[in-house]
Amino acid sequence: MAAPAARGSTPYQRWARATLLARTPETGTARTLVLRAPGWPGHLPGQHIDIRLTAEDGYRAARSYSLAAPGRGEHLEVGVQPVDDGEVSPYLAEDLPVGADVEVRGPLGGWFVWRPERATAPLLLLAGGSGVVPLMAMLRGHRTSGARVPARLVYSVRDPAQLWYGSELAAFAPPVSVRLLHTRAAPPGDPRPPGRIASTDLPDADGPFAPGVPDVFVCGPTGFVEYAADLLLLAGHPAERIRTERFG
Ligand SMILES: Cc1cc2nc3c(=O)[nH]c(=O)nc-3n(C[C@H](O)[C@H](O)[C@H](O)COP(=O)(O)OP(=O)(O)OC[C@H]3O[C@@H](n4cnc5c(N)ncnc54)[C@H](O)[C@@H]3O)c2cc1C
Repeated sequence: MAAPAARGSTPYQRWARATLLARTPETGTARTLVLRAPGWPGHLPGQHIDIRLTAEDGYRAARSYSLAAPGRGEHLEVGVQPVDDGEVSPYLAEDLPVGADVEVRGPLGGWFVWRPERATAPLLLLAGGSGVVPLMAMLRGHRTSGARVPARLVYSVRDPAQLWYGSELAAFAPPVSVRLLHTRAAPPGDPRPPGRIASTDLPDADGPFAPGVPDVFVCGPTGFVEYAADLLLLAGHPAERIRTERFG
C-alpha cells in the first residue's frame, strides 16, 4: 500500500484533475466511482478527498468523499450516497459522464486513519449507512496487508436493499467478522428485530473487543455517530480510543 507523501511534494496538495473511469451501483441509489488521478501520492485507509465541480458559468462547489479502498497507484475509489436535494452528490452519482474530469485535492485527514502495517490492537468499526465507506477501506487494507489483528464491523442499514458491499462483506472470514443491523426492515430469519443500534449490538464485554482493548472507528450521519459513540462510552470504551467521522 502506498504511503501518503509529505505535504507539498505532490500536485494534489492543490486542486488537480482526475478522470472518472467507472461508476458502479452499490444500492438502488448509491454509486462507487473510480477516478484516475495521475501522480497520486497514495493514502491510508480512513482518509478522504475533496472533489470540486465547476459549472460552465464558473460556479464551483466542492464536497468531501471518503476513499473506499487503500491506495492502488493512481486509482481512487469513492462511494457516493446521493442526497435528494443536494447540489453535488446527485450529479456525481448519476450525471457525471464516464471519461469526464473533476478536480480533486488530498489525501485529507490525519486522525481518522488506520495503519494496517502498524496495527497491534483489534479493530472495532461501527458504520451507519454510507459511513461504511472509509471503514471498508480499513477492512480492505486489513485483507491486503495480511494483518492478523481481529477486526469487527458492526454495520447499521435501513433495510437489506440499502446494504453496500454485500457480497464482499459476506466473504470476510476470521479474524474479520461483520454484524449487520437493520433499522427498519430485517431480512427473513434475522432474530434481531429492526431498530437502531443498541448496547446489545456491541461485541461482548470480554474478549478482543472488550472496552479498552480495540481501536474504535465510528462513521455515518451525525445522529448515528453521536448515538453510537455514547453507547461505546457507556459500555466503558475510553474516549481516547474512539475516533469518529460525521458525514453531515
Ligand atoms: C470527511 C467527510 C467525508 C465524507 N464522505 C462521504 C462519503 O464517503 N460518501 C458520501 O456520500 N458522503 C460523504 N460525505 C458527505 C459529502 O461531503 C456531502 O456532504 C454530501 O454528498 C451532500 O452533498 P450535496 O452537495 O449533494 O448536498 P448539499 O447541497 O450540501 O446539501 C446537503 C443537505 O443540506 C441541505 N442544505 C444545503 N444548503 C443548505 C442551507 N443553506 N440551509 C439549510 N440546509 C441546506 C440540503 O437541503 C441537503 O439536505 C462526507 C463528508 C465529510 C465531511
